[in-house]
Amino acid sequence: MKTLLLLVLSMVAVVREATAQDEQCVHERAAMIETIRAHARSDASVLGKQGLSERALEAMGQTKRHLFVPERSCSIAYADSPLPIGLGQTISQPFIVALMTHLAEVAPDDVVLEVGTGSGYQAAILSHLARKVCTIEIVPQLAMAAAKTLRDLAYDNVSVRLGDGYAGWPECGPFDAIVVTAALGQVPPPLIEQLKVGGRLVMPVGPGYTTQQLTVVEKIAPDKTSMRAVALVRFVPFTRSKN
Ligand code: SAH
Repeated sequence: MKTLLLLVLSMVAVVREATAQDEQCVHERAAMIETIRAHARSDASVLGKQGLSERALEAMGQTKRHLFVPERSCSIAYADSPLPIGLGQTISQPFIVALMTHLAEVAPDDVVLEVGTGSGYQAAILSHLARKVCTIEIVPQLAMAAAKTLRDLAYDNVSVRLGDGYAGWPECGPFDAIVVTAALGQVPPPLIEQLKVGGRLVMPVGPGYTTQQLTVVEKIAPDKTSMRAVALVRFVPFTRSKN
């Protein structure tokens, strides 16, 4: 009898904690979406009149940013600014995450590659939109932490791999969309190879730490791509493994 009571009490505690977690930062998350919408409207030169896709905004509304960053305070986690995620890396400002997600134009049956897992936040957003997400991170501690966060939050269609994303992930592809969240002077050719015809790659092109052009590459035929620069951005550098 006592054991049963303890079991029931602990179940109540688990449900309470889960509910409390769900209710956390609800207002701040909604406010973040409104800030992103306002930002998109004020920057019509980037997005035109139509603004950001509702699907991209919905996915951001479903993803709990405060659970991916070390700073768990709601007001800081959902402010429209970049945040440190440890080991010298940063998670982008929510508007830029929304913009990249929008530009990737992910459809429900898509397979998507992300290079630069970081905290796992962008991968989680993509996982709401795609059938399968594969994400590569070069820093072991970040790859491990992101894999754990994504597992704990039941993002079951996301796979995390430790490695240099320059070579892509051929066994997981070919990809309908590729999102690169670290800056490099040129688009890695293996990523273009692993992109399906009709697919899109979104990436900051330029030197790390200074400004780069957020670039969309579309693969229009097996040997033909088109490229357009969308906005000036500032990302951490894309690093290369030595071997
Ligand atoms: N998308 C992340 C933030 C990315 S910050 C998020 O949502 O949290 C950029 C990340 O790219 C860093 O974690 C950095 O370690 C990683 N990175 C840099 N060069 C890389 C490479 N060659 N392959 C894979 N990851 C790389």
